[in-house]
Amino acid sequence: MKIICVGRNYADHIEELQNERPSEPVLFLKPDTTIGQRNTPFYLPDFSSEIHHEIEIIVRINRIGKHIQEQFAHKYYDQLSVGIDFTARDLQNKLKSKGLPWEKAKAFDGAAVVGDWLPKGSFENLQQLDFELTKNGNTVQQGNTQLMLYSIDQLIAYVSEYFTLKIGDILFTGTPAGVGPVKENDQLEGYLNGQKLLELKVK
Ligand code: MG
Repeated sequence: MKIICVGRNYADHIEELQNERPSEPVLFLKPDTTIGQRNTPFYLPDFSSEIHHEIEIIVRINRIGKHIQEQFAHKYYDQLSVGIDFTARDLQNKLKSKGLPWEKAKAFDGAAVVGDWLPKGSFENLQQLDFELTKNGNTVQQGNTQLMLYSIDQLIAYVSEYFTLKIGDILFTGTPAGVGPVKENDQLEGYLNGQKLLELKVK
């Protein structure tokens, strides 16, 4: 399986990192080795001194598809959750400034945290999902899917122009404002519509 991630999908986050607003979705991939073992801590890697949390709505692909039209995109995923797109921001900034690919900053072991899945049918409106990340009990990121620049269905359509989607693939749909560093012993919890779907300790 593969993880397809979308960058710069919330205007408030684009502003906080002083990035340009994209004219089309920004995509990158993470390999399956980025998914940490369940119920294990996140270990800070040695090569970075600035690991940032990015809480995101994630969806699980349940059908193989390519060149999917937006109006049919909803048939290609059946579960949602929240995930964390851990990012070595210092490394990413260095790579970005040289125009180099971001993989070392985004695709290291443990850099994708996947929460417990909920069936898509349990949500009334996917355009109105509240999600949140707390760090040591304090809310650090809060978002709502109505603030996405590109909706989940638009993203599925766009992504599938480039990559065949396969069963079990996961789409990370972008992070809202409030990204920030984690340090040893931080406790992170992710919520979707008030329901806790992930928790982990930073080591
Ligand atoms: Mg992200």
